[in-house]
Amino acid sequence: MTQTALLERSDNKCELCGNTNNLDSYTLPPDNIPSFDKSILVCDNCMKQINQDEPMDSNHWRCLTESMWNENLPVQVMSYRLLSRLNSESWAQDALDMMYLDDDALAWAKATGDGQKKDESLIHKDSNGVQLESGDTVVLIKDLNVKGTSFTAKRGTAVRKISLELDNPEHISGKVNGQTIVILTKYVKKS
Ligand SMILES: [Zn+2]
Repeated sequence: MTQTALLERSDNKCELCGNTNNLDSYTLPPDNIPSFDKSILVCDNCMKQINQDEPMDSNHWRCLTESMWNENLPVQVMSYRLLSRLNSESWAQDALDMMYLDDDALAWAKATGDGQKKDESLIHKDSNGVQLESGDTVVLIKDLNVKGTSFTAKRGTAVRKISLELDNPEHISGKVNGQTIVILTKYVKKS
């Protein structure tokens, strides 16, 4: 049983704040199968904030400056994620700067994007200024001549499952007539 093993590993304490009441196991997303290597034991106070049922209490999370040095990787990774959520606070940013995770652990820590803000200048927006996400369906708002072909993509054509060109916020790509084409965001409308 994962929980029994976690209770033993943690000495019956919340692995983040040390609280001994209302302990439960938490599996770090994106994994959802409870396993010893991907889980930590936390108290209900920590759990509510981790799950965003309650706002982050910065004073409570001072405990992360200790838990980040825990010998168990999932505790380190969760500490990193929570510190990242608090990275507007200088003490949390200082703690992050001190942490050392190897490449694999760092990739795991960053897998959920905690505390990462998108760079405004790289957000894709349609002709109405609505933010576009990869996988969206858009509709062309004018006839477009497809470069290198004699084919015109007609106004009103729906383009499903678009991809965003990450380094160019004015370009998306998607399939029209079975062909992948690059489309300017100003000629589409999110549907
Ligand atoms: Zn706790």
